[in-house]
Amino acid sequence: MKFPCLCGRILSNAGSPNNTEHVLLSSVGVERLQDLIAEQFATAQGKVVLWADSWEESGAIEVWKCSDCQRLYVSPKDGFDKVVVYKIEQVGI
Ligand SMILES: [Zn+2]
Repeated sequence: MKFPCLCGRILSNAGSPNNTEHVLLSSVGVERLQDLIAEQFATAQGKVVLWADSWEESGAIEVWKCSDCQRLYVSPKDGFDKVVVYKIEQVGI
């Protein structure tokens, strides 16, 4: 998947891992993820643990970051018409 950032740079997740895709997770989500992983390891008994499902169940939000302008695109895979774009307003307070 790829799309142009508003600055003109092409954002892509073609390589995996990459530095474009990030995960946004609240502290509640972090705790939920830890619990899910611990639960899976406790019951795995040699089976493969499905990390992707745990990320989704923890409430993780996918965010793409432009390395040129630092804009953030929240949930780009939900459809381009639903993407929320954040741009740096200020550095330092
Ligand atoms: Zn950009």
